[in-house]
Amino acid sequence: MKRYMVWWGALFFLVMFTSLYLMLETVTSPNTGSLARSEAMEGMEAKIHMIEQDLNKNKELIADIKNWVGLLAKGDDNALGHLVKLVNEKSGDVVAVPKKDDLVKDQAQKPVAVPEALKQDSAARETAKPGEIYEVSPGEKVTVSGSMCSLSSSKGANADIDMHQVVDTLPFDNPDGGAWKQGWDVKYDPSEVSTKKLKIFVVPHSHCDPGWIKTYMDYYRQQTRNIFENMLPKMEEDSRRKFIFAEISYFSLWWDELDAMRRDRVKKLIDGGRLEIVTGGWVMPDEANTHYFAIIDQLLEGHQWLNGTLGVRPKSGWAVDPFGYSSTMAYLLKRMGFENMLIQRVHYSMKKYLSRQQSLEFMWRQQWDSEHTTDMFCHAMPFYSYDVPHTCGPDPKVCCQFDFRRLPGSKYNCPWRIPPQAITDSNVAERARTLLDQYRKKSQLYKTGVVLAPLGDDFRYDKADEWDLQYNNYQKLFDYINKHPELGAEAQFGTLTDYFDAVHEETKQTPSFFPSLSGDFFTYADKDDHYWSGYFTSRPFHKNMDRVVEANLRSAEIIFTLAQAYARKNRASNFPSVEMMKKLVTARRSLGLFQHHDAIAGTAKDFVINDYGERLLEGLTGAKQVMAESAAFLVVKDKGQYKYDAAAPILDLDQVREAHDSLPLRPVIQLSSTPTQVIVYNSLGHRRVQLVSVFVTQASVEVTNPYGSVVHSQTQPFFVDSNTVTDGSRFKVSFVAEVPALGVAVYTLKQAGDGQDTKNHLASTTFINPKSSVNSQGAFSIRSTTGNEDFSIKNSVLEATFDGSSGLLKLVKTLATGEERKTYVKFALFGARNTKEKSGAYLFLPDGPGQNTDEIKPVIRITRGPMVSEVHVFTKYVHHVVRLVNTPGVDALSLDIHNMVDIRTLSNREISMRIHTDIANDDRIFYTDLNGFQMQRRQTYDKLPLQGNVYPMPSSMFIQDSAARFSILSAQSLGVFVSKPGQVDIMLDRRLNQDDGRGLQQGVLDNRLTPNHFRLLLETRKDVTQTKSPGVAFPSHLSNVASLHLMQPLFAMPRSAKHAHTPLTFLSEFSPMNVELPCEVHLVNLRTLQNKDDSADLKYVPRDSAAMLLHHMGGDCSFPLHGVSCRPNDGKVSLAQMFSELKLNDLHETTLTLMHDLEEVDAVMEFPVPPMEIKTFKAALS
Ligand SMILES: [Zn+2]
Repeated sequence: MKRYMVWWGALFFLVMFTSLYLMLETVTSPNTGSLARSEAMEGMEAKIHMIEQDLNKNKELIADIKNWVGLLAKGDDNALGHLVKLVNEKSGDVVAVPKKDDLVKDQAQKPVAVPEALKQDSAARETAKPGEIYEVSPGEKVTVSGSMCSLSSSKGANADIDMHQVVDTLPFDNPDGGAWKQGWDVKYDPSEVSTKKLKIFVVPHSHCDPGWIKTYMDYYRQQTRNIFENMLPKMEEDSRRKFIFAEISYFSLWWDELDAMRRDRVKKLIDGGRLEIVTGGWVMPDEANTHYFAIIDQLLEGHQWLNGTLGVRPKSGWAVDPFGYSSTMAYLLKRMGFENMLIQRVHYSMKKYLSRQQSLEFMWRQQWDSEHTTDMFCHAMPFYSYDVPHTCGPDPKVCCQFDFRRLPGSKYNCPWRIPPQAITDSNVAERARTLLDQYRKKSQLYKTGVVLAPLGDDFRYDKADEWDLQYNNYQKLFDYINKHPELGAEAQFGTLTDYFDAVHEETKQTPSFFPSLSGDFFTYADKDDHYWSGYFTSRPFHKNMDRVVEANLRSAEIIFTLAQAYARKNRASNFPSVEMMKKLVTARRSLGLFQHHDAIAGTAKDFVINDYGERLLEGLTGAKQVMAESAAFLVVKDKGQYKYDAAAPILDLDQVREAHDSLPLRPVIQLSSTPTQVIVYNSLGHRRVQLVSVFVTQASVEVTNPYGSVVHSQTQPFFVDSNTVTDGSRFKVSFVAEVPALGVAVYTLKQAGDGQDTKNHLASTTFINPKSSVNSQGAFSIRSTTGNEDFSIKNSVLEATFDGSSGLLKLVKTLATGEERKTYVKFALFGARNTKEKSGAYLFLPDGPGQNTDEIKPVIRITRGPMVSEVHVFTKYVHHVVRLVNTPGVDALSLDIHNMVDIRTLSNREISMRIHTDIANDDRIFYTDLNGFQMQRRQTYDKLPLQGNVYPMPSSMFIQDSAARFSILSAQSLGVFVSKPGQVDIMLDRRLNQDDGRGLQQGVLDNRLTPNHFRLLLETRKDVTQTKSPGVAFPSHLSNVASLHLMQPLFAMPRSAKHAHTPLTFLSEFSPMNVELPCEVHLVNLRTLQNKDDSADLKYVPRDSAAMLLHHMGGDCSFPLHGVSCRPNDGKVSLAQMFSELKLNDLHETTLTLMHDLEEVDAVMEFPVPPMEIKTFKAALS
C-alpha cells in the first residue's frame, strides 16, 4: 500500500515538474520592438501550442499512470513493471524538448525512481553516476516453497526394483553360461507343454539407421526404399503377414514419392493393423547424449507427420539399438500417450539378473514419482542382440537356423555352422519342435505365456526373396504348430502391439502383476569389460554443435510463433511466413536426424558425420535467419514499412559459420559517431539481465539502453593468438543487457567522443610467460611478467585464485562469507590399452587412470575489467579460459569455463578436464543428469573397470557432502566419472587409431578444433540435516536457472549496415509477456504447427495454432536461490494473462506430442504444472 503511494507521489511530481519547467522556459523569452513583437507573438503562439501539446501528453501520461497505480493497488505486481516502463518511456518523450540533460539528471536523482525488486538487478545501471566505479549487487534471496520442495525432500518412487541397488549388489562376475553365454542353461518342466499354452508372436522388423556406414540418403536410395517397395506387394500377398517400422525420417521420404493409389494401399495395411508404426519418431534416438528438448522435438516431428498424413497414433515404443536406456524416455513416451515400450541393449549382467526374477517386463517408474502416475510398461529383450540368432530363444546356433535368409546357397550363413533348412512337409514336425523348444525356454524368463520373437535385423527385407523366404517358411511352421495342439502353442505373425495386447489380456485380472522398476540402464556392456562409454564423448565437436542448433531452433520457434501471431493481428501480409516456416521445418528435421543413435553418439563414418554436420549447419543458419527476420518484424515500429528482402535482411545474424566444422564468427559492428543498433533477444520466459558481448571497430564505445540511458560497458582488445594484439580493427565490447521475457531490447552503440563520460571501461591485460614481446594497444594497459606467483580474478561475489606457474584454477572464495573451496583444474591423458580389443568410437578401454599433463610455463593471459575478467591458459592441447562476469544476477554466481581442445597431434589418446575439489563424497557417489530432465544417482565401484564407471553427462553433474555441493553445468554432452572422492573427470575428446569391432570399421581420427563450455557452481546448503547422498536428488533452483542461461544464450543481432540509413524506426523494446513464467517453469517450446505435410500447396503454410510446452523443473529447496530476476510460483502459470496483446484461443491440454487431446483448459484459472512434469498445450494465438 505504502509503496504505490510513494510511487504515485513521485510520478505526479515528475509530471508537474516537467510542465512547470516548460512554462517557465516559454515565458522568459525576450520580446522587444514591433517586428520583434509580432515575431514574438508568433513565437508565443507556437510555444503556447507546444505547451498545449505537452499538457495533452501529460494528461495521457497521468491517465496511464493512474491506471497502473490503480492496478498496483489491487495487488497486481506486474503493474509495477509497466509503471517503470511507462516512466522511462514517457520521460524520454518529455525530455525531448530543450534542457533535457538537466531533466535527465534531475530525474536520475529522484529517490524512488526504481522499485526495490528491480533495483537489485539493475543497480549498477540505474544508480551509477558519471565517473562512479562499476559496482554490482549479488541480488536478493528468493524464498521457494511449495510442491517441488516437498517432492525434493520425499523418498521418491519406492519401486520394487531400484536399478541403482541392482548395480550395488551385482558381482559383475561374467561366468560362461553355455549356449546362452551370458545367462544359464534354461530348462523347463516338459509337462508344462500340456499345461501352459504359449501364444507366440513373430514380429518381422527392419532396423534402418538414418546414417551410419552410409549417409541417410544413400541408405534410403540403396536399401530403405527397396524395403518399402517390396513391403507393399509382399504384404498384400497374404493377409496374415505383419511388419513394423520405426523411423519416420525414412517413411516420409518414401511417402512423398507415392502416387495416390499406392498411398491408399499403404494406408490400408496400416488401418488393417498389419503394418505398425512403432515409436514413430523422426529417428530412434540416442538416449545418453540427447537433451529432452530434441528428443521431444523429433518425436513431435514424427508424430505430427503421422497424425497429419495418416491419422496414425503410435502406442508402442521400439528401441532395439540405442546403447543404453534412459528413464526420461519412459517418462516422455508415457506422457505422449504410449502404453508400452521395448528396450534391448541392456548390460548383460542386468539382463541376467532381471531374467532370473522374471522381471524383464516391468512398470518403469520415474524415481521421483511417489504418486506412481508415470508407470510405463516396458519389455526388455533378454539376449545379446536383436538379430534373429538372439531373439527366438537362448541358443543362437538354433535360432540362426530359423533365419531363412541364411539358407545354403545365399551369400549369408550362420557362424554357428548349422545352416537353416527350408521348411518342407518332411521336416516341419522336427523344425517346429526345435523352434518351439527355444520359444518355451525364452518364455521361462517372462511371467506370461506370451512370447515375443522379433524377426529381423539391420536393413532386412530389402530384397523380394527375403520376404518370400521368411514369411513362407514361418507360415508353414505356424500352420503346423497351430494344427497340433499337443505342441502347446499357437503361433502367428504379429505387430509389436499385438504382442503387448496379448500380454495385457493375460494379466488384466491381476493388478500389480509386473514389478515396478526405477532408475536407468547405463552404462551398457555387451560382453566382458566392453563398456560402451566412449560414445558419451566421441565426436565432441558435433555434440557441442548439436546444442547450439537446439538453442537456436528453440529460440527461432518461439519468436517466429510470436511474429506470426503479431502479423495476423496486424493483418500484415508482408511477413514471410512460408519462407520462414520452410527454414524451420528444415532445421527441425536436421536436428531430429542428428538425434539418431549413430549420429549424436559420434559412431558413424567420417563422411556420414560430415553429412550430418552439413545438415546441422543448414538448419542452424535457417534458424538464425528465422530468428533475425522475426525479431526485425517485431521490432519495426511501423509494420507497414517492414519489407522482407532475403538478399538484404534488416538484421545481421549474431554468428555465422563458414563450414559445418568451423567455429562461429561474429559480425564486427562498424562504429562511428552515428549510433547503430543491436537487437538483443531473450528466449526465456522471464526477464533476463545478462552480459552481452559484441565485436566493434572502435575501442571507445558508448552503449545506450532502450530507455536512452548510457550504460556501463567494457572494452577489451582482440587477441589473434596468445601473444599478439590485432592491429586495432576489432574490439570486444561487453555490457549488461536487460531483456524482457520472450522479448527484444534495442541497444544503441556509437563511437564515443573525447572528453565525454561514456561509462566505458577499458580492460587491462597481463601476460605471464609470453613467448614474444607483447604489442601495446592504444589506451589499453598491457603488461607482461615472468613470475610464478599465484594470481586471482574476482567479481562482486567470488574470487578465483590460479596457480602462478600452470595458470590453472586452484581456489574459489565466496567473498561474503570468506569461505574457501579448493578447486584444482588439471588436464589428463588416457592411452588405449594394449590388448586385442582397443578403444574405438563406441568403447572406452583405457590403459590406466589417466596421467595429468604437465604444463611447463604455458602462456597465461589475464584480462581484468569491472564487468568481466578472464584467464586464458594456452596449454599444449587446450586453450583454457576461466571467466568471471560481474553482472547483477545469476551469472556472477558461477565460474564460466571455455575450452578449445586440439588433440590432432596425439595418437590413441583421450583427454579429460580433471577437477579436484574438497567435497567429501567419500563413498564416491555422484549425480549425473539424464537428458537434461532429471538427475540420476551414480556410484563408482572398484568391482567395475574405469570404463564401467563412466556415465553420460548431457547437461550437468554434481558431487556433494553434508555442507556443500559442487556442480558442473555443461553446454554439451560428454562422458564423466568420479574416480576419487572430490574428483571429477570430464572427457573432452578422443583420438583413436582403430575400430572397436562394433561394425563401424574405422577409428576416430577426424578430430577438430573443438569448443566446449561449462559453468562451475559451488553452493552451500541451507539445511545440513539432509542426507548427503539421497536416492533421488535434484539440481538446486539456482543451478536450473544458471543452466538455462548457459544453454539458451541471449542473441545479439546488429542492424545490418545495408539498413543503417533506411528510414525504418525500431521500437525501443518488444515485450510480449504480461505475466512472466515463474522461475521453475521453463518454456520448452512454442512451436507453430505445420500444415498438412503431404500437400505441396499447404506444406509450409504455418497454422494459426502452436504447441506450447511447459516444464516444471525439479529443484532442490535446500540451497538458497538468489540473483534471479524471476519469481517462483509453485509451477502455477497464468495462461490467460501470459501475453499482453495476444490471446490463447481454443486452448487445450494435449499429450506431449499433440497426438491426443486432453482437457479443454480454462485459461482464466492459474494452471498448475506439477513438479517435474512437462505439459503441452495447443492454442491458436491471436
Ligand atoms: Zn541402429
